[in-house]
Amino acid sequence: MKKSQFPKTSQKLQGVAASPGIAIGRALVLAHQHWGRPRRLTNKDEVGNEEDRLAAALVRAQQGLLELKKRCDADFSQFMPIIDSHLLILADPTLVERARLLIAERMVCAEMALQDSLAELEEKLSGLSDQYLRERAADGRHVVNLILKELQGDIDEPDQDGPAILVGHDFSPEDVLSMDSKLVLGFVNELGGVTGHSAIVARTVAIPAVVGCPDICQEVVTGDLLVVDGNSGRVVVNPDKRELAAYQDRKKQFEEYDRQMGFFAHLPAETKDGRKIAVEANLEMLEEVGLALEYGATGIGLFRSEFYFLTPDGPPPEELLVTIYEHLLGSLSPFPVTVRTLDIGGDKQVKGHHCRPEKNPALGLKAIRLSLRKPELFRTQLRALFRAARHGNLRIMFPMITSYCELMEVKEVVAQVRGELRSQGLPSGDDVEIGMMVEVPSAVAVADALAKEVDFFSIGTNDLIQYAMAVDRVNEQVAHMYNPLHPAVLRMIAQVVEAGHNAGIEVGLCGEMAGDMGTLPVLLGLGLDSLSMHPLAIPYVKRMVRKTVSSRAEGLATDLLNCPSAVDLRARLRGHLQEYYPEETQSEPWLAGGGV
Ligand code: PEP
Ligand code: MG
Repeated sequence: MKKSQFPKTSQKLQGVAASPGIAIGRALVLAHQHWGRPRRLTNKDEVGNEEDRLAAALVRAQQGLLELKKRCDADFSQFMPIIDSHLLILADPTLVERARLLIAERMVCAEMALQDSLAELEEKLSGLSDQYLRERAADGRHVVNLILKELQGDIDEPDQDGPAILVGHDFSPEDVLSMDSKLVLGFVNELGGVTGHSAIVARTVAIPAVVGCPDICQEVVTGDLLVVDGNSGRVVVNPDKRELAAYQDRKKQFEEYDRQMGFFAHLPAETKDGRKIAVEANLEMLEEVGLALEYGATGIGLFRSEFYFLTPDGPPPEELLVTIYEHLLGSLSPFPVTVRTLDIGGDKQVKGHHCRPEKNPALGLKAIRLSLRKPELFRTQLRALFRAARHGNLRIMFPMITSYCELMEVKEVVAQVRGELRSQGLPSGDDVEIGMMVEVPSAVAVADALAKEVDFFSIGTNDLIQYAMAVDRVNEQVAHMYNPLHPAVLRMIAQVVEAGHNAGIEVGLCGEMAGDMGTLPVLLGLGLDSLSMHPLAIPYVKRMVRKTVSSRAEGLATDLLNCPSAVDLRARLRGHLQEYYPEETQSEPWLAGGGV
């Protein structure tokens, strides 16, 4: 590996933390991520040849995927659906067949036709502003890259003469699956997000990774010394001595924590005095089930169901949804799986599902309002859920309920769908709990009435905080005002817990706050029965639950509920954490990275 010629000063780049751990090593910038992409005009005589080149490259790309599938069969069978979906894209007329047509239509070389076809697909997906969908578009890009790689034959890649950190523009899930963990210390991707397939694979194969790190390929040359902090998303290029020593310490610490976490993941989440807390995972896709189980989830407290609806060709058919839900429930059975019905609109705009642009989408036609406005969409999802329910332990949850009447309307649709399935003689599960998210202040205010109508509550603090405090947390001008530890937020949680418990139902919390070590003792003290979070946070939370004494946490909660100011509240909480959870307060790697 060629070392860079000039001594460099340290430089810090920020990306998205995609897979935990810290890697320190020399960079290997992969050229095939940047191969020249010829855009050449051709003539009539060349059309046949270009079509043949494309067809042959396609076959080779398919063979490559099939071989990779065979190799992963034993250890990483959970990734089969990702590879299968890429095989499907290879066979899908919208991308490759369109490229074949463009060769003749525009008289261009196969590479150019492919790129243009991809651009058309991306354009089609561009109206879909949701993060999941953007990452779905990445699948099309990865497939095109596979074919381009085959079209261009061997690329002159630098030799890898030892373990290295790979730096690239857009590693595909297949690239990550093919990485040898002895040779690949970590990787940095210019593109991608935390829910992208490449990030999911990286977490499962336990390679530290940062994705969505713009300009990394420009800033780094092969041979540069890199620190990749997969906990915080930070990449340090050519760290100075002091930075390097600090990261070496953090790396050691993290590895020690990680060993301990493997142990805590599978212990019960039980306080010192024997109170059991359900510690569950928030998931978006089937492929994450393995991760949730590995990190010790005892159920799925929130399955965000939007992902499978974010397709450019309209909503998925009922049969496909049945298959997906059966698979989900079956692979987690007997653990409970809480599927939230569609929560689109607002920050999750989906082309084709929405009515018209809104001035204020967060207060507009979204979540359950949209489902009620589009009964066919809603009924199809409910039918699929009830039909799949025989395969596991299903709970259905409705997002953004704002009133008693709205809940009654939803329950009426549920009753109709169940009756319809019965009258059609379609087998469906009977034993399905029905619950709702409490994520708007009006639902908090009437929680006592709502609690009598559902089997469980799940508090969605991500939205509840934004609606209660009137703060859009992605608006940088006011984001600092978004505060989970505001007395108003804690009082609302307390009110919902009380209303739920008075009615004898379970009350859980599934916002980001559930996985935040800094607020955990308060949540336990407020009496929540279940917490659902990012899978990686589960072992930390379990360990902390096991250090907790209920009466002490309750005392803390009472104390904080009486605090008039958020500043005072935070100071008291800090004191409590330092006294009873010193290890967590000192240096918890995930906390240091801002929590998961
Ligand atoms: C919430 O609002 O807290 C929640 C969990 O839902 P989402 O983040 O998907 O809106
Ligand atoms: Mg929400």
